Amino acid sequence: MNKNKGIHNNILELVGETPLIKLQKITKNLKGAYFAKIEAFNPGHSSKDRIALHIINNAEKKGILKKGATIVETTSGNTGFSLAMISIVKGYKCILAVSDKSSADKINLLKTMGAEVHVCPADVAADDPRSYYEVAKTIHKKTKNSVYINQYFNELNIEAHYKTTGPEIWQQTAGKITHLVAASGTGGTISGVGKYLKEQNPNIKILGVDAIGSVLKKYHETGEFDINEIQPYKIEGLGKTLIPTATDFDIIDVYEKVSDKDAAFASREIVKKEGLFCGYTSGAVMQATKQYAAQNYFDENSFVVVIFPDHGSRYMNKIYNDNWMKTQGFL
Ligand code: PMP
Repeated sequence: MNKNKGIHNNILELVGETPLIKLQKITKNLKGAYFAKIEAFNPGHSSKDRIALHIINNAEKKGILKKGATIVETTSGNTGFSLAMISIVKGYKCILAVSDKSSADKINLLKTMGAEVHVCPADVAADDPRSYYEVAKTIHKKTKNSVYINQYFNELNIEAHYKTTGPEIWQQTAGKITHLVAASGTGGTISGVGKYLKEQNPNIKILGVDAIGSVLKKYHETGEFDINEIQPYKIEGLGKTLIPTATDFDIIDVYEKVSDKDAAFASREIVKKEGLFCGYTSGAVMQATKQYAAQNYFDENSFVVVIFPDHGSRYMNKIYNDNWMKTQGFL
């Protein structure tokens, strides 16, 4: 765990081994003890460093990624930043298809990190040729010597968290964890961590967080893709309007949906009460934790780990901007 002792050869050696911090004030009125896994401590400031590095290392080992190759991906921003950072260190070209729901900050960041960025409309069907999924596929087909990361449908996404985040949480809690609360986007985090934890102790409950406007919760409950669930929402990286195979729905016990507004206020509350400058989905996870608590999921003996996926700096023009909050009708 002493990863900051001594000299590192490059920034990629700092991926993973993020801290677990006890929440002191925000959970004061909830039963049990609460601990946040702060993924913003990754060098790319999000949990996505883990999957990006794991998938690229794997492709190199298999000989799929050759010198001078191009890395192509669809991304809500964080995966893109991680891929761009890794591409610089390892000498690859990076092309990203991004949804226009991503903040301007995130898109500028990706460009700053040397990536070629294609901005695509968010509110079209996943199989529409304009969607960021289809745009990335087309770029991959057209670009010789390119690799498509495909995080939504890549089992290495789950494996990255199964091999790193899961064991870290188990060790950091000395096996005392009783509940995990995690956001579900691609589902890689919750599925990989959940699988590892349940293998150590099958009684651990895996509580998912979904967005109002996404299909995941309903799909988990009914096995059906219900198009009526879909509506536009603002939280980036949470929930889906398709069913990603990087989600292992059997590992997840239950989902709770949160609103844009509640998640925004919860993010601000984490900052104000804990001094943790975290992103929008961290607020979503906190809000869902409160909703689970209100439904008596926890008691005095609960040892709850919540995962905070990224850093607040990426949302200065959104939830941390009063004008944006007013425009949404939140303030
Ligand atoms: N929060 C943020 C900010 C994200 O970018 C993502 C990934 N899209 C998630 C949460 C969800 O993580 P996962 O994809 O592993 O489900």
